[in-house]
Amino acid sequence: MSSDFVQAVISLGSNIERERYLPEAIRLLRRHHGIEVLRVSRFFESVPVGGPEGAPAFFNAAAVIRTDLDPEQLRVELRRIETELGRERTGDKNAPRTIDIDIAYYGDRVDDLGDWRIPDPNTATAAHVAVPIADVVPDWVDPVTGSTVFDLVERIDAAREKVRPARAIHLSSPFELRAPQDFDEVGDVYAPQLEALVRQQLVEMGEDPDRQGLARTPLRVAKALDFLTSGYSVSLDEVVNDAIFDAEGADEMVLVKDIEFYSMCEHHMLPFFGKAAVAYLPKGSIIGLSKVARIVDLYARRLQVQERLTNQVAHALDSILEPHGVAVVMEGKHLCMMMRGVQKQDSSMVTSAMLGTFKSDARTRSEFLNLIGR
Ligand code: ZN
Repeated sequence: MSSDFVQAVISLGSNIERERYLPEAIRLLRRHHGIEVLRVSRFFESVPVGGPEGAPAFFNAAAVIRTDLDPEQLRVELRRIETELGRERTGDKNAPRTIDIDIAYYGDRVDDLGDWRIPDPNTATAAHVAVPIADVVPDWVDPVTGSTVFDLVERIDAAREKVRPARAIHLSSPFELRAPQDFDEVGDVYAPQLEALVRQQLVEMGEDPDRQGLARTPLRVAKALDFLTSGYSVSLDEVVNDAIFDAEGADEMVLVKDIEFYSMCEHHMLPFFGKAAVAYLPKGSIIGLSKVARIVDLYARRLQVQERLTNQVAHALDSILEPHGVAVVMEGKHLCMMMRGVQKQDSSMVTSAMLGTFKSDARTRSEFLNLIGR
């Protein structure tokens, strides 16, 4: 990857089902392939700016991210997350919304991009934007004013009646910021709907989800499942990311073996894991070796059956490299077999997919099988 990574600050707000949408938005940021979430602020409550009388109060938060997306791309991706969370953009800037996600800062960049600007002008004037940012990165230097965000908040706070009618409540100085009473519960949510289901699952299993050892289990399970199924939210193009190189004349078999994989069977949602060997006979292009393992991860981090996983890895390489042939052999142990009943505990399952010359030419195939010790 040649692109540079930049730290940026994202501000978020929600005043429709805010306990649900604000954590979901942060979760989708975490799942995004081009965004690494480094830190998230606590949540703050704020009264709406210029909205209709009695409009529901907001929850606001800020996240520090690392990204190689440029500002326009990042904005497109944030809009996509907003749309996924039911945001409807109407003409009314003050309408209640499920979620609002904006770029507050993008490195130290100062830019006028037509109908929007970096930094977001609100960061210097609106307490509901600045306070969560100060909570997560008080030392961040605002490139327009040269002040830290901490200092900006103090200034906004001092003149807040003039600056904005809305402000984060419980605000005196950034170090005395207090979120609403229910803050701890809300701030500790990752995927509200999934966590509610895990909690219900514990009840159905006869457990007490409120006992101490299980109190944070729904949260942990949600995070683990998110990671273990992260293959759904990544595409082959994103994984490959231009790591395909011309290699005219390269005609020797390329083999990567002992690639560890961890997946979950779709029948029982229990793990199966093992090692993969992947080979191809190049026809003009090759791929970085580490990418082969990432392609395996891409398809392993889903609910799978081992046969399909093996085929998907083979066809993925076939489609991006168009080589003379591809061979994939996977050997896996399945916990659904090992942990339940009478199955032999040491048994493992071997699956293979042979394409092109590996399928049509017995010598190529046996050379491959010899190299992997089969
Ligand atoms: Zn199974």
